[in-house]
Amino acid sequence: MRASDLLCSRPEGLYCPPGDFHIDPVRPVARALITHGHSDHARAGHGAVLATCETLDIMELRCGPGFAGTTQAARPGETISLNGVKVTFQPAGHVLGSAQICVEHGGMRIVASGDYKRQPDPTCAPFTPIRCDVFITEATFGLPVFRHPPDADEIARLIRSVEQFPERTHMVGAYALGKAQRVIKLLRQAGYERTIYIHGALAKLCDYYESRGVELGDLQPATVEGGERQDFAGEIVVGPPAAFSDRWSRRFPDPVSCFASGWMRIRQRAKQRGVELPLIISDHSDWDELTATITETGAGEVWVTHGREEALVRWCELGGIKAKPLHLVGYEDEGD
Ligand SMILES: [Zn+2]
Repeated sequence: MRASDLLCSRPEGLYCPPGDFHIDPVRPVARALITHGHSDHARAGHGAVLATCETLDIMELRCGPGFAGTTQAARPGETISLNGVKVTFQPAGHVLGSAQICVEHGGMRIVASGDYKRQPDPTCAPFTPIRCDVFITEATFGLPVFRHPPDADEIARLIRSVEQFPERTHMVGAYALGKAQRVIKLLRQAGYERTIYIHGALAKLCDYYESRGVELGDLQPATVEGGERQDFAGEIVVGPPAAFSDRWSRRFPDPVSCFASGWMRIRQRAKQRGVELPLIISDHSDWDELTATITETGAGEVWVTHGREEALVRWCELGGIKAKPLHLVGYEDEGD
């Protein structure tokens, strides 16, 4: 069997003709396999959805109970047959419940990795490398300039800044699914035990992470009503990045704008967004993680989905690995 007969790109997303299913489709389809809960991958309106139990829960939290006709939970490592095509979900290390999907048929094995990272993350299961013929990889940070420092170093800079400016509020912009909980958990691991204040948009997902055993310590709503503005002096407030550019953030005393993202490697980006304290914390692989992972899978062929495809394709070709960009559209990850 040729790889392109097992998985091909369609306007709706990756499609498996013999199995008759899509992976992370961007338009409603009859049967969807979903790698993780970020909104660009997990959309409502499919007939049947197969995903990990956590991803199904997260989709329900974000889209409401009727987000799909029917749902089925895939346990990590469990092989499920769809029209004779074997599919297996394995952890991707991206956010809670995130999975790579291994598709196998007629002696051909393709791994669609979704979004993934290799840095340890205390809020989700680590990426499991899978040997395969074709590895499908993202390339959000697919340029050699992107090298993410250890996340503990970035969190230490945040804590030092809080100690240095006890009269100011540190406003940490972090995406609601995954990044926010990781930042909070990293603060706890670094010994920060004070209450952390969260924007309302994070509450449900933080509660859900807690229910899955990710302890986040004392979290309180970051509401000024009924309290004093100065109550937040010297405190850390975590919220979605969008909230920090609107009026909501102006109610806090002399805020220090922080943003936890792999993009913070680019100084110009931080400047444009008015970020005073950029924190390079990413839920995606950096250049070294991408190339090491490709090598580790032993794949003879690599398909690059979204991001900066060219450099990664070139790197593969120089190493004797066949590679091509898939030009899938509709994936602008909310969780960088
Ligand atoms: Zn993602």
